[in-house]
Amino acid sequence: MEGRHCPKLFWYEFKRKNAIPPYDPLTKAVMEEGKKVGKYAQLIYPNGILIERDWSAVRTHEKTLQALRQGQPIFEGGLVFGQAYAIADIFLPAGNGDWDLIEVKSSTSLKNDYYDDIAFQKFVYTGAGLPLRRCFLMVLDRDYIKKGAIEPGKLFRREDVTETVDERLPGVRETYQQLLEVLQLPEPPDIQLGTQCNNCALKEVCWHFLPEDDHVFVLHKGEKVAYDLMSKGILKLADLPPQYELNEKHKIQHEAIVNNRAYIDKAAINEFLAGLKYPLYFLDFETLAPAVPIYDLSHPYEEIPFQYSLHKQAVPDGVVEHAPFLAAGQADPRPEVLQLLREQLGSQGSILAYNANYELNCLKRAAAAFPQHQSWVDSLADRFVDLWQPFKNFAYYHPDQQESTSMKVVLPALTGAGYDKLEIGEGWTARQEYMRVTFEPEIDPADRQAVRSALEKYCALDTKGMVDIVEALKQEIRH
Ligand code: SF4
Repeated sequence: MEGRHCPKLFWYEFKRKNAIPPYDPLTKAVMEEGKKVGKYAQLIYPNGILIERDWSAVRTHEKTLQALRQGQPIFEGGLVFGQAYAIADIFLPAGNGDWDLIEVKSSTSLKNDYYDDIAFQKFVYTGAGLPLRRCFLMVLDRDYIKKGAIEPGKLFRREDVTETVDERLPGVRETYQQLLEVLQLPEPPDIQLGTQCNNCALKEVCWHFLPEDDHVFVLHKGEKVAYDLMSKGILKLADLPPQYELNEKHKIQHEAIVNNRAYIDKAAINEFLAGLKYPLYFLDFETLAPAVPIYDLSHPYEEIPFQYSLHKQAVPDGVVEHAPFLAAGQADPRPEVLQLLREQLGSQGSILAYNANYELNCLKRAAAAFPQHQSWVDSLADRFVDLWQPFKNFAYYHPDQQESTSMKVVLPALTGAGYDKLEIGEGWTARQEYMRVTFEPEIDPADRQAVRSALEKYCALDTKGMVDIVEALKQEIRH
């Protein structure tokens, strides 16, 4: 799959692996989640034979051939063909000596890349002599609602993808040959940089020439413009030719960066602030979203709030009160979150959140599981105000934001406060750490307590940060 993504990345994978940075914690966590999902898929097929991983592909091949003779489901069997090697999530006996292949993915949708992945496997297995009848893709069923113990047979949906896979086979064969040639090269192939580089593990290596700040790729959704400028040898926004045409948002960014001063559309900010109704509530959720649901009445990847921070300001320039919540045990936190917020949010006043749809949708999903709160949640829709809006619309833009309008960047740019000194400084770590200290057995109580207080500090900064952003915007329009 890396070879199809980019031959240069493939070359590095085999020839200069050390230059590729190790997986980041988020990718590792996604991979771990994938393994857990795979184990649930195996439960659907009793009496399966698990082929233990072996560093030797040839030994795995031999162990798999032995297992195939027994005519039972095989998990993680690996086969070799030429210089290609693939490991199958599941081989299923299909009668008359034939086999079906099942590829298990921890997503809920059928992604285009998956077909190439399976086509490569089919190329290897059939090349190795395995009579493959059909190929299936098994993904999590988003409509599955947990009620009691997980039912693996209902957790997944299985699609027959044989026809699409067969269409991809010639392309896979061709890529295989091309990639074998790439491996013969003494130096990495010269590849034109492009959108395929987004999120590539080797980006720092290939893009080292790009200045750290104020480069042309900070232009908001401006990849096309940035590549055009790069092709003309222009890498810094400050070096833009005067006659070069930019859209409105790009003009704002360019102006702010060249003048090293924030751009402020006072009329738009004024209008935004005038729309706020006191008391003001500032709300932020931290959520978990397990691939395999933990709580009854939830589905795969459902975002479940386990923590919130709520700041309230009753009158303009008034005292700000704080009401935090962090779920205490392993029970479903949604009923408590709904009940507490129902009491704390009152019946009037704006509820500000940064990307407000996220908080509102969390509440809507929770109310779908606990319908006694449905009409109350419905009544909140008109009260939510998105504090992201003035930044998303570039009514305010600070050159330090570079390409981002996220709160993690806006808050320090606008107020000087930031997340740097926090032990937990972003949502993904908050989620992982909460899961670890809440669900893993034998957690040291001191570790648990330290994580919980770090979580409280982190979530509180998000809502206190929103209070400060509103105050800072008020100051900006007074000047
Ligand atoms: S950064 Fe781009 S050119 Fe470099 S390996 Fe990745 S995809 Fe290929």
